[in-house]
Amino acid sequence: MYTSVELMKYIIVTGGVLSGLGKGITSSSAGLLLQCAGYKVTAVKMDPYLNVDAGTMNPYEHGEVFVMKDGAEVDLDLGNYERFLHCNLTSEHNITTGKVYKKVIEKERHGDYLGQTVQIIPHVVREIVDGMRKAAEDSKADICMVEFGGTVGDIESMPFMEAGRLLSREEGKENVMYIHTTLVPVVGSVGEQKTKPTQHSIKELQGLGIRPDIIVGRSNDMLDEDIAAKIAFFADIPREAVISAPDAQSIYDVPLMFLEQGLHELIEKRLGLKTKKPDVTKWKDFAKRVSNGGDEVEIALIGKYTALKDSYISHKESLRYAGAVLGCRVKIRWIEAPDLEDSGTIKELEGVNGVLVPGGFGNRGAEGKIMSAKWAREQNIPYLGVCFGFQLATIEFARNVLGLKGANSAELDPKSPHPVVNILPEQEGVDDMGATMRLGDHDVNLSKGKARSLYGKDTISERHRHRYEINPEYIDRIEAKGLKYTGRDLSGRRMEILELEKHPYFVASQFHPEFKSRPDEPSPLHLGLVKAALTHKKG
Ligand code: GLN
Repeated sequence: MYTSVELMKYIIVTGGVLSGLGKGITSSSAGLLLQCAGYKVTAVKMDPYLNVDAGTMNPYEHGEVFVMKDGAEVDLDLGNYERFLHCNLTSEHNITTGKVYKKVIEKERHGDYLGQTVQIIPHVVREIVDGMRKAAEDSKADICMVEFGGTVGDIESMPFMEAGRLLSREEGKENVMYIHTTLVPVVGSVGEQKTKPTQHSIKELQGLGIRPDIIVGRSNDMLDEDIAAKIAFFADIPREAVISAPDAQSIYDVPLMFLEQGLHELIEKRLGLKTKKPDVTKWKDFAKRVSNGGDEVEIALIGKYTALKDSYISHKESLRYAGAVLGCRVKIRWIEAPDLEDSGTIKELEGVNGVLVPGGFGNRGAEGKIMSAKWAREQNIPYLGVCFGFQLATIEFARNVLGLKGANSAELDPKSPHPVVNILPEQEGVDDMGATMRLGDHDVNLSKGKARSLYGKDTISERHRHRYEINPEYIDRIEAKGLKYTGRDLSGRRMEILELEKHPYFVASQFHPEFKSRPDEPSPLHLGLVKAALTHKKG
């Protein structure tokens, strides 16, 4: 068991009624306010699913797979924490049932339990509590936000709830508090806010031994006074501890709405901290810029999970941050790559000021993405390719400029006569899919070009997630025709960035710049795209 540091405070955020209520945004926003008040804040996400990590999940299951600096492939909420709190977290900060069980079973096989019968209680719950504590303490924070995925009452959430209760027992009541996020639906022709679902979920939570200190009520408007009072009554908390979370124009307004309602004070008082007023000047300014915007530019995002915008959340936010810096509004035109293939034309792209082809896997939609790269290259439309979008831009160039018929990626056509994108040598013979790609932070050396001017330095470190790479055998031929690899790994052998000469902005990267994009520090490559799109618009 980990020994607790003196001042570590835990804020556990649970969700009731249904999922998708914005528990992640609630945790991030509360964390941000405390950070602005001068506390060092970190965050942990608990995911009750049996997957060890999110890496093997289809984006339609939980949205984007976010990649952390140490290469952990995690739930997109971790991306929200990193963006709101401007921090870099590690795999410790995402605890899944899969991870916990794996560890417990490994310990059992190793004989660590010394003959005991290994059970959910106490062994699994102990592993969860220790995991939470370790993540919090390793980050040397003062306050750790802990978001519990799922909804109170789910069978799979039970060990986590029990861990949440146990943590308070072990750390002391004054060091652990609970925020419960719930839905207050509006029904009927008069649009009445209804508290019954909230009442039930509070009861359920109390039945598990957790008494929420604060209730955050999601509704389309502020909670009516009598409704808030009623919820307070049922939860047995003061009226001020019922916080409204009405629909916001932007998620970045949520911390400010919480500030107005005094959420930080409630937390500080409850945890015995000094009441400090958060300095949100910088955040307020950003929130204003990100929502206002001037000129509008339109960027086509070519994906294959576009029905769920969260599948591309880090790109979406990166483009917004770039817009906030440049004083423009970035509108995304969501394009399904397979539709481009089916129609055989790029008509759907006409009129956009830029094209973004994000990461991806597999054949479905790949040719549609290649069509988009070709169009952007030929028509001088700003283009940003990321990972798959980098590899496909190379394939397009090899086919149409070098005339290499059948050029492809070994991932898409293992029999291609010109595998210009090939498997990474160290990946050959790797069969397991989970956590086996080239992942996380790797350094990249930049040579003269747009990327280097955008980054403003010679060596950068960016996050990766891939199994394939540009085949070194083709580099000289490709470069001779004007597509230059201006970013390479430290060995110089692995291609990391490409740029097309004599094009306003045709840039792509093997790494994922979107994962390190922050509100006040957008990814340089997204910034470059939006800047070029603005110039394109002005014609
Ligand atoms: N499928 C490609 C690879 O494995 C690209 C991966 C990605 O875009 N994240 O290399």
